[in-house]
Amino acid sequence: SERLVGGLRKTSERLAGNLAGFGGATRLSDTQLDDIEDALIMSDLGPRAAARIRKTLAAARFEQGLDDLTLRSAVAEEIATILRGVAKPLDIVAFPRPQVILVIGVNGSGKTTTIAKLAHLFQELDYSVMLAAGDTFRAAAIGQLKVWADRLAIPIVTGPEGGDPASIVFDAVKAATDAGTDVLIVDTAGRLHNKRELMDELAKVRRVLGRLNPEAPHDVVLVLDATNGQNALQQIEIFKDVAGVSGLIMTKLDGTARGGVLVAAAEQYGLPIHAIGVGETIDDLRPFDPDLVAKVIAG
Ligand code: GDP
Repeated sequence: SERLVGGLRKTSERLAGNLAGFGGATRLSDTQLDDIEDALIMSDLGPRAAARIRKTLAAARFEQGLDDLTLRSAVAEEIATILRGVAKPLDIVAFPRPQVILVIGVNGSGKTTTIAKLAHLFQELDYSVMLAAGDTFRAAAIGQLKVWADRLAIPIVTGPEGGDPASIVFDAVKAATDAGTDVLIVDTAGRLHNKRELMDELAKVRRVLGRLNPEAPHDVVLVLDATNGQNALQQIEIFKDVAGVSGLIMTKLDGTARGGVLVAAAEQYGLPIHAIGVGETIDDLRPFDPDLVAKVIAG
């Protein structure tokens, strides 16, 4: 958790700065509540979570007199309540195998790295893993995923640059089924500038998957870059339409002051949050611990 604490320090310092100086009284005035609500929005928690926290604070009585610490722990408690509702690990439950996890997200969000981290996590849990390089639009993406696969000694199904992602996915599901693989993680294209094309491509991938196994994809995980702040929320909105989203992984929570967007996403969309990325190395994907994150952000 040291990495997490270090990583979210900028977020928590920003929030603490925004939440300072409300001390003294046993209850908060309307003006103070307005200021706190603004402060929460400025800390990227979003209008809905901010309004919800405001409501809780408005009802609170601080018998010992309010100080910065008490205020922050009241905020942390409400944030924890919001986050507890969405914390859900990516469990491997599919029968028959493989469990097919489609990973979506814009280029640069950390999608490739997150796939490698996830694969590593499943390996550590003794699951067998296979990768499918479905982002055929970028030669670099195929190459990068292959480097990770080799490093982790995981089989990978690839195709030529510009090839049909659906046919790679088809081959990959067959290979994973034949091999009795537990988890198949599928990379997909993330070129959001051509929404129509991306939508068609992902729809075709889903169609092919569904034909091989009506339950597949079992998970559609959207990778979001926390440093994008509120734009990350827009990406949820778009990808919900383009591909459907069953859960989120938020990356780059290390070293950004915009980690509050995690809370905004949780409150606004209620989508499961599976894990968080707190660095560039293979071990830097953490299970999403709502109490810890709330405490680190606001405590
Ligand atoms: P893709 O284009 O979405 O596949 O993104 P990549 O996986 O190639 O990642 C883009 C950059 O973000 C790379 O330099 C990664 O090392 C970096 N990255 C990914 N996840 C994290 C994270 O959680 N923290 C940090 N600091 N960097 C990350």
